[in-house]
Amino acid sequence: MDLQFTSEQEAFRQEVREWIRANLERPFSEEVRDPAHDADSLVEVRRRWQKRLNSAGYLAMGWAPEWGGRGASEVEEAILLEELARADAPQVPNFLGISLLGPALIHHGSEAQRQRFIPKMLDCEEIWCQGFSEPSSGSDLASLRTRAEADGDDFRITGQKVWTTFGPWSNWIFVLARTDPDDRYGGISFFLMPLDQDGVEVRELRQITGEAEFGEVFFDGALAKRENIVGDIGEGWKVAMTLLGYERGGDTLSNPAEYDGYLDGLKAGVAEAGIGDRADVREKIGRLVVENEVLRANGLRTLANLAAGNAPGPESSFGKLGWSEYAQRLTDASHDLLGPQAQLTARTPGARADVDWAYQYLWSRAGTIYSGSSEIQRNIIAKRVLRMPTAR
Ligand SMILES: Cc1cc2nc3c(=O)[nH]c(=O)nc-3n(C[C@H](O)[C@H](O)[C@H](O)COP(=O)(O)OP(=O)(O)OC[C@H]3O[C@@H](n4cnc5c(N)ncnc54)[C@H](O)[C@@H]3O)c2cc1C
Repeated sequence: MDLQFTSEQEAFRQEVREWIRANLERPFSEEVRDPAHDADSLVEVRRRWQKRLNSAGYLAMGWAPEWGGRGASEVEEAILLEELARADAPQVPNFLGISLLGPALIHHGSEAQRQRFIPKMLDCEEIWCQGFSEPSSGSDLASLRTRAEADGDDFRITGQKVWTTFGPWSNWIFVLARTDPDDRYGGISFFLMPLDQDGVEVRELRQITGEAEFGEVFFDGALAKRENIVGDIGEGWKVAMTLLGYERGGDTLSNPAEYDGYLDGLKAGVAEAGIGDRADVREKIGRLVVENEVLRANGLRTLANLAAGNAPGPESSFGKLGWSEYAQRLTDASHDLLGPQAQLTARTPGARADVDWAYQYLWSRAGTIYSGSSEIQRNIIAKRVLRMPTAR
């Protein structure tokens, strides 16, 4: 296993750094602190940033050039994301379309679907959200009950999706719905649907952070056109598994890079509070620094594995479990060490300018739930790494 970057990869890192320096107007945390912004205008900041990345060839870099990518390796993608995280660049609004739907269309979509949807996805003319989870189907996704009933050549969708990230700002949704109630996996199909139509209602869900970037999506006989089914009828589970397999590799280094910034903020905070020399404080921060290096090493191990041409293995579960639980320990530490200062929100006068600890503390609660909860990751590790007996 080789954990060193090649000279070409280091040169690519320099190129990206220079591009970001020339193109990022200001860190996203500064945009958030700016009282001139509201939720909608922050989405516009993110939309502009996506367009800029796209024009420079830094979006969907791993895709083939015919689909707007540059056939980049996972290592180059990881370097790009690491540099973007280090610079605190905005997250692109179409991250679900680009990281999940795009690869699924490239693998399972028709030529007409690729032509129709990919360019607008990259240019952010159409924003996509993911309609998988339902009120009673999250970890056990295959138990989903939203149904698709034939209506001539097309389908009518009825049911409810929940936790739909970016639902309130999206125009399109990719939906898993049941075309056969009696076949658990083979009875699921994958539909592309516009949200702006009769029979669809998106309701905001306000989160503990105060934002409402989630939605619930209600379908009541909404139209799903036959031409917008990805794969064949009954192949939805297969398409979904391809898509979830793409949640791999690319972001392995960006989380530790982001946490480096938080650790710097924590060190500055304790120094200002006059407790930076205390042995217990130094021990706590030292431990967090070491843990972040362990996350980085695991990320490098994952990348080295991918670069050697191997399929993503169970180390991606270590990575997910590791960063999500680490983020909670790190933000817990901010509250222990900085006290009330860590509870001020970014726009409160007197709040620290480096890290919005109150927001990060609350947001980190979600990390151990989405993209496979901690319990599910532990199940995977128990089964695939430790070879422990499982119930099924
Ligand atoms: C921030 C965020 C963004 C999200 N965005 C989207 C989105 O855009 N689109 C979308 O479709 N979904 C989205 N989700 C939903 C997410 O995929 C689900 O929340 C997740 O799969 C867990 O499902 P659940 O909430 O139904 O919990 P459940 O599956 O009901 O789990 C409840 C608890 O039981 C535990 N548990 C469940 N099964 C097992 C088991 N077999 N063994 C041990 N413990 C178990 C879980 O770990 C959890 O602690 C998002 C969620 C969050 C928090």
